[in-house]
Amino acid sequence: MQPNELQLSMIRSRIAAAKSREDSLYAKKFSHIQPDDITDVAAFEALPFTEKEELRDAYPLGIQAVPDEEIVRIHSSSGTTGTPIIIPYTQQDVNDWAFMFKRCYEMAGITKLDRIHITPGYGLWTAGIGFQLGCELLGAMAIPMGPGNTDKQIRMMMDLGSTVLCATSSYALLLAEEIEKRGVKDQIKLRKGVIGSERWGDKMRERIAGELNVELYDIYGLTEIYGPGIGISCSADAPMHYWDDFIYLEIIDPKTGKVLPEGEIGEIVITTLKKQGAPLIRYRTHDLSRIVPEPCACGSPFPRIDRIIGRSDDMVKVKGVNIYPGQIEDVLKLVDGVSSEYQVMIDHLMGKDEMTLFFETAPGYDMDAVNKAVAETFKTKVGLTIHPKAVSIGDLPRSEKKSTRIYDNRY
Ligand code: ZN
Repeated sequence: MQPNELQLSMIRSRIAAAKSREDSLYAKKFSHIQPDDITDVAAFEALPFTEKEELRDAYPLGIQAVPDEEIVRIHSSSGTTGTPIIIPYTQQDVNDWAFMFKRCYEMAGITKLDRIHITPGYGLWTAGIGFQLGCELLGAMAIPMGPGNTDKQIRMMMDLGSTVLCATSSYALLLAEEIEKRGVKDQIKLRKGVIGSERWGDKMRERIAGELNVELYDIYGLTEIYGPGIGISCSADAPMHYWDDFIYLEIIDPKTGKVLPEGEIGEIVITTLKKQGAPLIRYRTHDLSRIVPEPCACGSPFPRIDRIIGRSDDMVKVKGVNIYPGQIEDVLKLVDGVSSEYQVMIDHLMGKDEMTLFFETAPGYDMDAVNKAVAETFKTKVGLTIHPKAVSIGDLPRSEKKSTRIYDNRY
């Protein structure tokens, strides 16, 4: 995918706007760049990326690109450590966000007759208020619950007849289990779930969909780029449509920074096309996905990205092939007798990269046969020859952080 003329002119306008305010992040970063020089894809792809770290360094308002009187609110990323990122919004930014979010609801078949039960948090974080803005613009009834207090959630869900649940996958599952436990399933009127999460597996999808009797939709977004609502899956297929009249999206090789051909998996990089308060040029999201080149069966002309499959920080390159945890989990899921626990060792031996995959195997399975099946499936699905090492359940150390499952011993 390449930026079209209209997108290029919007990009030029955003660069000019981003640079216009003295001492702003881009006034310094792009001091040598003239917006009018960005006339083709090559010029655009030569622009430097914007890193999360730079937004953090610009704390609190170094990213702001318009005068103070035009800013109507800020949101902040929930950075786990250190300085947060502050994103200022103009009224137009807020309106655009609401417009995109309304489009998400419409894509999911939600109408103004729906009652939208919103459980993501409100406040500095962009989640709850984004779900609410889109709901109100659509004309549906917002039930602005926020997270927590499961008793009240279920009571309101029953009494008000909520038809749409907006939640993270883990909270949707918790509510589904509570509803089951209390035996009130017949009093719940939900028909759709709009789920914003990084990565959640098919097993979890099936359980939530089954127990709540809803159709599920994946919504995409990040605080730095409006918030949730810049893309959503449709009822025809799993990938998410994204709004290319508001954002320009690239997929890059996270190691080399090169833009990848359509269909290849890499890191999502986003350029905002309309944002005023905090335009972002080639912002690295660290989310891994791919552009789905085939047109969607639903008929929507909006381009698509696949479900988010992980974080680029967790990716490693072995013999020229990019490997990431989500992909390993997907392979292991396909082989009978293999459980979800695994560990990867990458070594450089005799001038060659070698990858060893340890995984736990259920009792009663022939480990040699399982080893063979895992190696073959890995070769077919990922294109890499590995050393499989089946071990018994409980043999691998349990760790809370997924990233510590891959040990790169090459450097
Ligand atoms: Zn579609």
